[in-house]
Amino acid sequence: MRLAEWTTGSPCDPDNIAYCHRCKPRDLPSHVYRSAWSTAFHKAPGCKALATAQESVERRGGSPSEPVGIHVGVAISSGLAPCLHCFPNFKGRA
Ligand SMILES: [Zn+2]
Ligand SMILES: [Zn+2]
Repeated sequence: MRLAEWTTGSPCDPDNIAYCHRCKPRDLPSHVYRSAWSTAFHKAPGCKALATAQESVERRGGSPSEPVGIHVGVAISSGLAPCLHCFPNFKGRA
């Protein structure tokens, strides 16, 4: 299954499951990282884009939250987009 297809949450052909674990594209990890305020999820908690965003939260007087690991299906179904820095192959929702 292609990444753009899988991330839309459409059920896979063989199993008829949305965000099917078996059909998950190989370049997508099963757990990703997000922080409380983020609109994107990241492959690694140490992502450069995540760190930069956290700095700008601090600069605006907010307190950045620690990145937490969540299941990738949960991340996508709650409306988060893949970080383009972490997932350069992702071309957006089809
Ligand atoms: Zn499947
Ligand atoms: Zn990232």
